Amino acid sequence: MNLSIETLFTTALGLQAPWEVKDIELDTAKRRIDFQVACAVKQLTCPACGAAEQPIHDRVARSWRHLDFFQYEAWLHADLPRVRCGGCGKTTQAPVP
Ligand SMILES: [Zn+2]
Repeated sequence: MNLSIETLFTTALGLQAPWEVKDIELDTAKRRIDFQVACAVKQLTCPACGAAEQPIHDRVARSWRHLDFFQYEAWLHADLPRVRCGGCGKTTQAPVP
């Protein structure tokens, strides 16, 4: 099997589709590894009421500290989609995997 490094870390971080690692930046001097995580869909299920295939309203940039990988400080960065629901009328941030 021929896995890309992005696919490898998507699995290692426990992410599931449609979430995936899009970019990895390794800084050996700072002993830090940064993952850019993305959810590349146009529609999601409303987290508030469960209505399927609701449009994404916008995306909000967030960062988290992850458990270290070996001696590297690991950070995750993602633009979290917010769902604008036609069912319940709420704008809700999608749950973070
Ligand atoms: Zn809803």
